[in-house]
Amino acid sequence: MASRIPLIAGNWKMNGLRTDSVSLARAIAAGSVQGCDLLVCPPAVLIPPVAEALAGSAVALGAQDCHFAEAGAHTGDIAAPMLADAGCSHVILGHSERRADHAEDDALVRAKTMSAHAAGMVAIVCVGETLDERDAGRTLARIGSQIELSLPDTATDENTVIAYEPVWAIGTGRTPTADDVAEVHTHIRDQIAARFGAAVADGMRILYGGSMKPSNAESLLAIDGVDGGLIGGASLNARDFLAIAASRP
Ligand code: PEP
Repeated sequence: MASRIPLIAGNWKMNGLRTDSVSLARAIAAGSVQGCDLLVCPPAVLIPPVAEALAGSAVALGAQDCHFAEAGAHTGDIAAPMLADAGCSHVILGHSERRADHAEDDALVRAKTMSAHAAGMVAIVCVGETLDERDAGRTLARIGSQIELSLPDTATDENTVIAYEPVWAIGTGRTPTADDVAEVHTHIRDQIAARFGAAVADGMRILYGGSMKPSNAESLLAIDGVDGGLIGGASLNARDFLAIAASRP
């Protein structure tokens, strides 16, 4: 098996003003965590000051969305090359909040992922089932179709990270069982292997996201096939975020 370096990624969502966000970024940059990659994804308007706060540190910078087009008449949107130019190496795409708030479907996520790849960025493609889908026994089918339709043929283990985030676990304090997480991660990796080959599947990082915090991080990150976390609420506190990163098995 490839040795996948865990990725601990913070999704700050629509939180923070400049002063607090710069302090948060500085505190994360000052932490010393070995053996994993750290990433923070602030709101778009805070990318420049956070980039400055992270300069010289090992913490990577990401965005929370991009447009599918390279440039043009798309008022209010931000193109992937602009994010790359501003210092972003990663972009979160297809988060369930964007799928819900902005009616983003898999085809759009796929187009955005291609745009991120063309701009030289790593796309963190989010997938996850709703509670209704889980209760109806449709989790693997739902995840399978999201993976199939959201990932473009340009996906490799270097330019793409998958984040498995059960919609019902995001911001709720609820988490799936270790067996449930392992089952979904195995399903995703098998599907990646079938389409892109064993080497890509072996190298691709598949994160878990949904109510991860210092008290449950160790057990979630120890699950077979979990290569890190996408963290929302707990990423807004440097001590908690760094504690999660330090709690890898
Ligand atoms: C997220 O929104 O990606 C997320 C995992 O949020 P939280 O950690 O707050 O559940």
